[in-house]
Amino acid sequence: MDCIFCRIARGEVKSNILYQDDRAAAFPDINPKAPVHILIIPRKHIDCVADLQDSEEQLMGHLVAIANKLARDNGVAASGFRLVINCGPEGGQLVPHLHLHLLGGRQLGKLG
Ligand code: AMP
Ligand code: ZN
Repeated sequence: MDCIFCRIARGEVKSNILYQDDRAAAFPDINPKAPVHILIIPRKHIDCVADLQDSEEQLMGHLVAIANKLARDNGVAASGFRLVINCGPEGGQLVPHLHLHLLGGRQLGKLG
């Protein structure tokens, strides 16, 4: 699968992997929008959160648990942070491989 995030997860494209296990990986966003901006992805290619199967609910919970760990490790758990999942064109999704954005380290604006 010629998907940039699949290729990062497989180690074919160099990235600073901050966390990985058999189901997930996390790495810094190449164009950070905040002092902490980390992407958390499943190893399995899933286009978008809308494509999650019932059997993948646990996987989604696992990704959120990794985001919490990375928030703690990067010093933003206490100050606060935001998790964002964009889906589809009007959701602003540019890379069609499900990912969570972990954003923190500055005051984030209101949505909209
Ligand atoms: P989204 O708009 O939710 O699909 O977000 C995609 C994000 O992936 C953007 O914030 C990009 O800056 C980021 N991105 C794209 N290519 C790479 C890459 N090779 N390594 C790290 N982040 C990337
Ligand atoms: Zn992929």
